[in-house]
Amino acid sequence: MKRSKIQHQTLKEKYQGRCAYCSNLLGERWHADHIEPIVRNWWNGKCEHPERNTLENFNPSCPSCNIVKSMSLDSFRKIIGGFITSLNRDSTQYKFAKRYGLLEEKEIEVKFYFETI
Ligand SMILES: [Zn+2]
Repeated sequence: MKRSKIQHQTLKEKYQGRCAYCSNLLGERWHADHIEPIVRNWWNGKCEHPERNTLENFNPSCPSCNIVKSMSLDSFRKIIGGFITSLNRDSTQYKFAKRYGLLEEKEIEVKFYFETI
């Protein structure tokens, strides 16, 4: 959906100029994320859920959250929660940092910024 400049700025300020998911301040380059994804086909760009392309279904997002999300909130939450497992399995640097006390893992449920304010 094409947003007006006012709608675009209002969306950016929805969470005081922060990413709805990670809370990072949004810079000049930010994304309008579909909370419930519209799902585009890779081969033809066709939108599978055009009914979700509404202002109410947008959250302001930093580019990295938006690019990783591209799925439902619950799936995004599960993906982020699984990052620790992947890091422990795949990243030597992560395992070293953990062994030397440079980071601490927490058994907590992923909460998005917009859920905490
Ligand atoms: Zn973010």
